[in-house]
Amino acid sequence: MATILSGKAVAESITEKTRAKAEELTAQGRQPVLLIVRVGEKGSDLSYERGVIRRAESAGIAVRVKALPETVSGEEMADVLREASEDPTVSGVLPFLPLPGHLNEKIILEALAPEKDIDGATRSSMLGVYAGSGEGYSPCTPEAVIRILDHYGVELSGKKVAIVGRSLVVGKPLAMLLLARNATVTLCHTKTADLPGETRQADILVVATGHAKTIRSAHIRKGQFVLDVGINFDAFGKMCGDVAFEEVEPFVGAITPVPGGVGTVTNAVLLSHVVDAAARAYAKDPLPKSKKTEA
Ligand code: NDP
Repeated sequence: MATILSGKAVAESITEKTRAKAEELTAQGRQPVLLIVRVGEKGSDLSYERGVIRRAESAGIAVRVKALPETVSGEEMADVLREASEDPTVSGVLPFLPLPGHLNEKIILEALAPEKDIDGATRSSMLGVYAGSGEGYSPCTPEAVIRILDHYGVELSGKKVAIVGRSLVVGKPLAMLLLARNATVTLCHTKTADLPGETRQADILVVATGHAKTIRSAHIRKGQFVLDVGINFDAFGKMCGDVAFEEVEPFVGAITPVPGGVGTVTNAVLLSHVVDAAARAYAKDPLPKSKKTEA
């Protein structure tokens, strides 16, 4: 039987620190503020939004929502991000992605200041992750994987890690974060010649393919640590990951559940970034707005 790496415990420990920092900043007249920028009224976005608001408020973070119509132009959306970047009362900005097809995401996101890019979507944040330049924030999901491993005391230095999936939001940035921690990383994808051969060699296996049951018993080795990033829904509408959990769990050393694993921690990481952004802004400019006006 594998150890279940519960994301709940990790998320609670992150959120406790987030709440304490948010309370401290609020006492100094600088409550952290998250701005959600949503385009359209997609059901999945609205339900995610409700979840973010509930979690943020319970961590002492205020939330504002800028809802834009589905027909918004790229220039209008970029203006919203530019204004939010300059607004001293906004700590961090979360644009819901992907944007509708007529909007050029890469260009529009560049209007967002890296210090408010709490989900690591801009080029500056990527530079922070890839070149260690200290700019912006890492994307929350790869950071969540690292936080889980750290929470459970898994040493990364010198370990072999296989990541299945090479997207810009999960696989690639995670590979960089792991390299920075001195792991030896193999990035696998659909053209990997011998996927089971690669995954079986790893001490730690991270799976982010977007397909249920990509990883089965043939892909794993006894005692491995498995982190399942996937979020899928089966024919009965039940959430499941990218790993065939029931098949793999009896053999591996430890595994994250879905739900209740990486996704739970990702949400907590996002809020920790908002509070960090607020704290950094406060350190740069500790005068409350009203005092600045008087000065
Ligand atoms: P993408 O579709 O952007 O990327 C999937 C990657 O997996 C690609 O690199 C693809 O390879 C690879 N892949 C797909 N099928 C296979 C296969 N059979 N064998 C080997 N490689 C494969 O997905 P994302 O990275 O955006 O998301 C991955 C999963 O993580 C999804 O389930 C998503 O819902 C979930 N997710 C969860 C989050 C969380 O907080 N828990 C946050 C973000 C995503 P190739 O490049 O060759 O096409």
